Amino acid sequence: MEALRQIPPVNDVLRSPELVPYQSILETPFGNRVLDEVFGDFRRELSSNGATVSRRELTERIASEVAARIQSALKPSLRRVVNATGVVLHTNLGRAPLPVSAIEHLRDVAAGYSNLEFNLSDGTRGKRDVHIERLICRLLECEAAIVVNNNAAAVMLVLNTLAEGGEVVASRGEQLEIGGSFRIPEIINKSGARLREVGTTNRTRIRDYEKAINDQTRLLLRVHPSNFRITGFTERPSLQDIVRLGSDRNVPTFEDLGSGCLLDLRPQGIRDEPVVAESIRAGVDIVSFSGDKLLGGPQAGVIAGKRVYVARIRENPLFRALRVDKLTIGVLESVLMNYVAGRVDDLPGLQMLRASSDELKTRAESLASRLGKSARAIRLSSVAGGGSAPESLLPSWGVELEFKDLSSAELERRLRSADPPIIVRIENSRVVLDVRTILADEEPHVVASIQASANP
Ligand SMILES: *Cc1c(COP(=O)(O)O)cnc(C)c1O
Repeated sequence: MEALRQIPPVNDVLRSPELVPYQSILETPFGNRVLDEVFGDFRRELSSNGATVSRRELTERIASEVAARIQSALKPSLRRVVNATGVVLHTNLGRAPLPVSAIEHLRDVAAGYSNLEFNLSDGTRGKRDVHIERLICRLLECEAAIVVNNNAAAVMLVLNTLAEGGEVVASRGEQLEIGGSFRIPEIINKSGARLREVGTTNRTRIRDYEKAINDQTRLLLRVHPSNFRITGFTERPSLQDIVRLGSDRNVPTFEDLGSGCLLDLRPQGIRDEPVVAESIRAGVDIVSFSGDKLLGGPQAGVIAGKRVYVARIRENPLFRALRVDKLTIGVLESVLMNYVAGRVDDLPGLQMLRASSDELKTRAESLASRLGKSARAIRLSSVAGGGSAPESLLPSWGVELEFKDLSSAELERRLRSADPPIIVRIENSRVVLDVRTILADEEPHVVASIQASANP
């Protein structure tokens, strides 16, 4: 154990120049643990390998390891990345990027106090939902709205409020699972209601709903099959038929719309995504949808529709458990204001979804020319992502990269280790970058990182 005598006293390490910037951190319990861990590791290494360096060098090596571990622990784990995959609402990459105007509004209201639940006109206690409700009601022409943590929570809350202890009638063709193991039959069970399945996987008629209604029926449920499509010999009653049946038999109707498309995106090639206002117009009592799918806002679940039902949902104690904070309300309010004012292209997610193929081609060609002969502009297909419009391929453009002596797998890895990391796709064993999801101000970083990866 002769080698262990080479270990320097802690104070020598603490005095080394490299640790000067970390003096106050080193006095915290966290700093103490890092010191203990590093000393422990060096002791183990010395006792198995013996001392090969001078004490002075050992002091420097320990100090530099301590500095590295402190830096790595204090670096944010959630980081900005460049999304070059072409998947606009990439759930693993945080779905929609938020507009700067919304972040500025948030900075303003969140850095100080706010009137979150305070009525400025008469100084009384207010409700946090009013900030969002007024905008949703304008956009959808509905009577009332509230917001919860996400659409999964919204569906749970609606089912629990309106159907606990009774039956929910829903088609066998709409028993979907979405990412993160949200399954309609399981959610109905958890809500305390019982699922009454009707029809078959491919065909369900209004007669099937009608026959299933009995004195236990509490709700008619319609679910938008967001992430899959049933094609071929299929049939599904119209929303109007379901609404009519519900109102004839005095059973409320609830539609889980999934994405929450506030605009018709068919001209952009996004097919089969129902527009929320059309469901309200068709007379559905309650709808729910996500804030961060095709709406392009923060994670949230919006519940909107008739006042009598929204009032009951708000009184459910579960609502208190699922409510959103001022951060979500601030960002969502700002995003919804863009819709009200017709400034949808200020929302980055929507702008990406609506970008034309010509515009993307110009960007791809310009990017390729800045990258030189190893890059060429190519046609690509992007998708909306986030479990929306699974069959709609959006014609897009991007660049394909090929460097001599550099495999695509290694290039992908190098770009993923750039700062900020660049997430790409590999197609036909080549690295491709879809310009649709790359923000314009990220392009210089993309060019520089590709050049650095090719000539490390
Ligand atoms: C995405 C989706 C949900 C869940 O929405 P989150 O906001 O991700 O919780 C629920 N129902 C349908 C039909 C969906 O597409």
